[in-house]
Amino acid sequence: MRKRLYFWIFFDARAAAGNAEFSVTVTVTDTVDLFWEGAHQLRCPPVAASCRWFFRHRSNLSMQKAKSQSHVDPRGPIAAVILGAVVITYSSFSPPAKVGAAFPWTVNPTGLLNDLTTLLGLYAATIPAKELLNSVLKYVGDNIIGYVRMDEGDQKVPKLEVFEFHDLCYLAVNTLVEFVGMNHIGAFLFGKSVDYDPRNFNVFNGPLAFIAVFILNDAIYYPFHLVAHRRIFYPYCHKQHHRQFVPFRGYADAANQHPLEQMYGFSIWIASLWMISKVTGLHAATAWLGSFAWAILNICNHLPFDTRIHLPIPYPAFPQDHNTHHRFPNTNFATLSTMTDRMFGTFRPYKAAGQSESRTEDIPMLIEAVPSHWSVMGTGILLFFSLLAIEVVQLGGALPSTTMSTFVTSASFLLTLSLLCWALRKGASQKKEA
Ligand SMILES: [Zn+2]
Ligand SMILES: [Zn+2]
Repeated sequence: MRKRLYFWIFFDARAAAGNAEFSVTVTVTDTVDLFWEGAHQLRCPPVAASCRWFFRHRSNLSMQKAKSQSHVDPRGPIAAVILGAVVITYSSFSPPAKVGAAFPWTVNPTGLLNDLTTLLGLYAATIPAKELLNSVLKYVGDNIIGYVRMDEGDQKVPKLEVFEFHDLCYLAVNTLVEFVGMNHIGAFLFGKSVDYDPRNFNVFNGPLAFIAVFILNDAIYYPFHLVAHRRIFYPYCHKQHHRQFVPFRGYADAANQHPLEQMYGFSIWIASLWMISKVTGLHAATAWLGSFAWAILNICNHLPFDTRIHLPIPYPAFPQDHNTHHRFPNTNFATLSTMTDRMFGTFRPYKAAGQSESRTEDIPMLIEAVPSHWSVMGTGILLFFSLLAIEVVQLGGALPSTTMSTFVTSASFLLTLSLLCWALRKGASQKKEA
């Protein structure tokens, strides 16, 4: 208990010094649980009840205060306006992506969107498309599978339930930043670094490149996210994203961030694709599937469902790990794997919010380190269909001839990897039961 109390004091001091006022509210809520747990260990229910009432009362007051004041830190919007001015100035002096293309390469990196109607039409189409995807994911999670929700407990879970004007402004600007970012990913996908020949698909530019690109993306993203949380930078950029304690909207909570974050998020993903293309080669099937998976996992990390969706990479992260980051901002900086957080001591296991009794699972380290066999098999199936789709498009709808034969080696590799993952996890769980 003493050890945990020291931890609480240390954590509270760090939160108060380093992050926003919201962190303090969350820490108070967490403190209730620690006192509740401690008082039970002392076998003294009246003390537990008193502690609980006192801290819950404090917590409620603090939340009401946060709700009514809703202070907008002007440093974030000012930084966004300066960033916008820099981008517009730089773009006005930039050449087009290729000869004959309209608009600067920064806005039209593929050089394919050469009239304003096409550009604006496509931009307008991306907004409902993203909302539709988000609604489908939410409908499946809520009504078809019925996942446990992380934003509901037997007690009230504090969260940003209503977007305010400045949240909507950030979201509106980010629809534009995302559209341009998607075009830059498109420019990379249609560029020289990606191999479109179905006969050239192999284990290295297929499954291994897929795994490596996500590991690299997380390794680069980690220091950026860590620095974004430093006190000197936090109010200028990342504070906006942490207005949400418990993400539940999916896309909107993911996109409610500073445009600078959107820009470096897209840049890190493209840089990761480019670096992997230089090391293992990169097939179009891998690059397209990876980019879709990257976008969808980012939405899933901000949905309220406690799913086990994860990538076939070491120490895969689940949506619950990013949920923990929103509640405890100095933990879980990486978003797709927990490897870097474990290496640097910033990993924090998930604990459900708003539950009167904590439910902590004792999971063996080996099971946490090894991805599930179905994540490996699922990736294999999706890679196969991605390769098939590319060949069908190239053949103009005719029946593909090479996909089956070129995929055999990768299928064998993925099957072996999947069996290995299954055996390791099975062995670890049996050892735990014994
Ligand atoms: Zn987030
Ligand atoms: Zn953060």
